[in-house]
Amino acid sequence: MNTADRDTDILIVGAGPVGLFLANECARRGIRFRLIETRNAQSEHSKALAIFPRTLEAFDMAGLVGPFLDAANRVTAVAVITHGRRLAHMRFEPEQSPYPFVAMVPQNVTERLLLEALRRRGGDVEYGSTFLSAEPGGGGVRADVDRSGTRVSLRAAFVVGCDGAHSAVRHLLHLPFEGGSYPDSFLLADVETNEGLPGDELQLCPSERGPLAIFPMSATRRRIVATIAAPEGDAPSLDLVRRVLAERAPREIEALSLHWSSYFRIHHRHVGSLRSGRFFVAGDAAHIHSPFGGQGMNTGLQDVWNLAWKLDLALRNHAGEALLESYGAERLPVIRTVIGTTDLMTRAMGTPSRIAQALRDAIIPMVSRLAPFQHAFVERLSELGIAYAGSPIVEGPGRRYWDDSLRGGAGIRERYLLMTGETEDAPTRRAAESLLARFPDVLEARSPSTTGIVLVRPDGYVAFESPEVDAAALDHVRSLLERQIA
Ligand SMILES: Cc1cc2nc3c(=O)[nH]c(=O)nc-3n(C[C@H](O)[C@H](O)[C@H](O)COP(=O)(O)OP(=O)(O)OC[C@H]3O[C@@H](n4cnc5c(N)ncnc54)[C@H](O)[C@@H]3O)c2cc1C
Repeated sequence: MNTADRDTDILIVGAGPVGLFLANECARRGIRFRLIETRNAQSEHSKALAIFPRTLEAFDMAGLVGPFLDAANRVTAVAVITHGRRLAHMRFEPEQSPYPFVAMVPQNVTERLLLEALRRRGGDVEYGSTFLSAEPGGGGVRADVDRSGTRVSLRAAFVVGCDGAHSAVRHLLHLPFEGGSYPDSFLLADVETNEGLPGDELQLCPSERGPLAIFPMSATRRRIVATIAAPEGDAPSLDLVRRVLAERAPREIEALSLHWSSYFRIHHRHVGSLRSGRFFVAGDAAHIHSPFGGQGMNTGLQDVWNLAWKLDLALRNHAGEALLESYGAERLPVIRTVIGTTDLMTRAMGTPSRIAQALRDAIIPMVSRLAPFQHAFVERLSELGIAYAGSPIVEGPGRRYWDDSLRGGAGIRERYLLMTGETEDAPTRRAAESLLARFPDVLEARSPSTTGIVLVRPDGYVAFESPEVDAAALDHVRSLLERQIA
């Protein structure tokens, strides 16, 4: 299917945060896209709250971060408190990031900010448009969409299902969604409180009655998340929230009024494959898990951050099969780790076993003071520690790369960045020039902020690095790129 035969390049199904972020990335990159959404407007629910430093860095590279910083309540500490006793207090201020905090932004605000940015870039959402089915054909995909009762056909190069936990795209592809469910329901409530607890600290409260977490949305507004064995009514009342807080929360907090509340059931599931030919799934369509840890939306946003540049290169006829396949190879290990960690946390915080509780309450105060634990905790929660070691398109640890030249939306796009330290060696200079000439559309030389050679991918991860600036290392870069670039 030629570009002229297609209605669009990428059909994005679902305008939740993940679909909206992908649409923004398409708009920034000049990729044609259609973003269809079955609802008639964005959801008004505040659901996911926490935006972690690595997601803020991705927003920064995508030119979107400013309004999120203005809207956010900044959290810089996490406390573990049980029965009035502080088991741990950990600073959360990762020094290596320009965003050393968790940005608390209600999901409806996140969606609004992403939509506003998309509209500024000339894009929009097609509301009242439901993805029905699709099939590959003619070198692309033909999709059927119900647009306010009328069935229309769309031709695209790729379809990305960002259509949430009940994803029609996932069902179409027959991708098993394996995992399990938590036995209890979860209570979620946004409440106005007194100022008894600090507004920059998140509290995790383990309890034999089930875990409870308190996320500060402002000095006085809190998001309460707790498991609940016996839900009462259609939505949690202020009275029920107060009882749950009295049983499990620090005494200092007092719930004064209720903004919004809901019950929900949680599963921990993920697909075994994120891609089938020209179809991809991302976000809740691909993985769902416990809200303790607040990683759900962040993981979805980083799925599409990983995918967007690969689709961009594919549409410019520069992506080899290995590049598209690497989306799943890189994201699935991250997804499994997030599900494993949040599952462990949910179980440990709510264990009914007295022995396990005693062990937990004895171990947390000791371990949480240890520098290696604090470092690992910050790396994990901030998502700055995510790396793509073992990826077929990476050599070495695949760590995050950051310098200020990446920021602002124009710092990094479809090109890999080749950072090379100074060399006086003529063969090495010639090898660098020949490498840049070999990949004129996908490789760009950038003044180094480090010594040696660093090859940075368009999503700010290191594909290759060498402490030596020599022709052999540059030859390595060439063969690595040849394996992934068509
Ligand atoms: C009550 C609740 C509380 C939560 N709390 C937290 C939290 O504290 N922290 C956290 O990280 N996560 C939380 N989550 C999860 C978080 O909301 C999700 O991870 C996040 O919304 C995922 O974004 P998404 O874009 O992948 O999917 P969604 O936000 O589900 O968006 C999918 C979109 O696709 C649309 N759609 C579906 N089918 C079709 C179709 N066939 N055609 C067109 N459009 C379609 C839907 O209408 C929807 O707008 C919570 C979820 C719920 C329900």
